[in-house]
Amino acid sequence: MKTSSSSIQADEIMRRAAAAYLGLAIGDALGATVEFMTAQEIRAQYVVHRDIKGGGWLRLKPGQVTDDTTMALALGEAIIANQGRVDAMTCARAFDAWMRAKPIDIGNTVRRNLLRYRQSGVPCAPPSEHDAGNGAAMRVLPVALATLGQDEDAVAKTVIAQAHITHNNPVSDAASIFLALFVQDAILGMTLPQIYRQRVLPLVAAQPVFSYRIKRLENPSGWVVETMRAVLQAIFDTDGFEECLVDVVNRGGDADTTGAIAGMLAGALYGLASIPPRWLERLDPTIREACKRQAYALIAHGIAAGEH
Ligand SMILES: [Mg+2]
Repeated sequence: MKTSSSSIQADEIMRRAAAAYLGLAIGDALGATVEFMTAQEIRAQYVVHRDIKGGGWLRLKPGQVTDDTTMALALGEAIIANQGRVDAMTCARAFDAWMRAKPIDIGNTVRRNLLRYRQSGVPCAPPSEHDAGNGAAMRVLPVALATLGQDEDAVAKTVIAQAHITHNNPVSDAASIFLALFVQDAILGMTLPQIYRQRVLPLVAAQPVFSYRIKRLENPSGWVVETMRAVLQAIFDTDGFEECLVDVVNRGGDADTTGAIAGMLAGALYGLASIPPRWLERLDPTIREACKRQAYALIAHGIAAGEH
């Protein structure tokens, strides 16, 4: 597997996987407070928003997370129950059960295509140029962990099977694959400049729509292109977990999802020790424990798969 060429130890791989999962949940909980606010409104109300305090349009308790985290956890649980194998039907059933449990929030594309799955039994949405929201990309982490060590084509195929249950769109696919491979590279010890050369440059060359070296993007929408631009700006304009998450959520807009995705990448890059204790302590304890438990279980499947 890929670790053979890396000096990173197995226990550090586990810790980085846990940091990615906790980063996803922390970014979600932090960003949800300011979701749909403009950057200007956030400045007026908080100067800088930097504490997990709940509230927001969903009226969350401090530390509570939204669909970004709960969909990933539903997916992760299903993959673990399936001995680490990821197939479309397993994922679709998990998302359907998740929707039946009345989640606190659900995206329009996710709802529409899960209702379609309920009727058709087919775990793949029809191709749509409009389904380029960030709903498939935001929940990709369990797939990245379970497929760690597999070759890139196999990872991409699995990521797409998961994504197409609700989002059958090439831009969503490109973002989801990029994020999964970025997380894997970071967990295996690749540095940010290495990831830039190996992943970011080829992505932007193949899909120029993701060019992010533009004016600072504020108020990103739920379009996965704007999500990616905001997240990449925040990742490359900062050099630590806390700074990155504060940067991205204070842009407003779809801040729970930009926070979740940036938190996942920054957690994988900077590791467990980089996560501020005040955020970790504030996170809903049930969610915190589930993220850690799933990260270890999924990465164990990933490592085992990569060794075959
Ligand atoms: Mg959300």
